[in-house]
Amino acid sequence: MPLAEIRARIAKAETNAGRPAGSVQLIAVSKVQPLDRVQAVLDQGQRVFGENKVQEAAGKWPDFRETYGEIDLHLIGPLQTNKVRQAFGLFQHIHSLDRPKLAHTMARIAQEMGHCPQLYIQVNTGEEPQKAGIAPQEADAFVAECRSMDLPVAGLMCIPPVDETPALHFALLAKLAARNGLQGLSMGMSDDFEQAIALGATHVRVGSAIFGTRVAPNPA
Ligand SMILES: *Cc1c(COP(=O)(O)O)cnc(C)c1O
Repeated sequence: MPLAEIRARIAKAETNAGRPAGSVQLIAVSKVQPLDRVQAVLDQGQRVFGENKVQEAAGKWPDFRETYGEIDLHLIGPLQTNKVRQAFGLFQHIHSLDRPKLAHTMARIAQEMGHCPQLYIQVNTGEEPQKAGIAPQEADAFVAECRSMDLPVAGLMCIPPVDETPALHFALLAKLAARNGLQGLSMGMSDDFEQAIALGATHVRVGSAIFGTRVAPNPA
């Protein structure tokens, strides 16, 4: 689907929700896509991208930045503590702050480097055992813990269970964010971004609807 069409659908969803135009940011999720597809989207003016692996991002974005200038990069996949330093050098936003140990490492490295990306706490809204994230009932305490370490918490992020109505999860995430005074809501993917916008998403993470089906498996 052309990028312009996705942008138009986002604009329509903003209007339908009575939200100001431009209040939702589109993150184009370029993981495992062939470089020519990514380049085509860059050529259409998109400058905000999401990747789910540090290594993969490190292999493509420095070159694209040379060619296209400033690009806003979002890490949306799990982050190992030994890659935090590298991630801080590449990404302006990290959506996968999902455990206390990672928060502590981020706080230490932010001190050392003198800067820290904008952080989104990943909440496991479906309480799925195999999925990363803070349990909903622990979210308030974890937000407070991160703030006590001076981490810049911009909002919350979720990936709803595949077999459940996403709207319930989006509504829960919005409620948790509101009661913690957080503005950012990273929720909504190719199949459900309009619903996410209706429920307050500030960032939608859209991959296959823009780039087409991912050509290589990417289990993370
Ligand atoms: C891959 C991925 C997306 C994009 O998924 P699509 O269904 O292709 O839009 C969004 N969020 C996360 C965390 C992802 O890993």
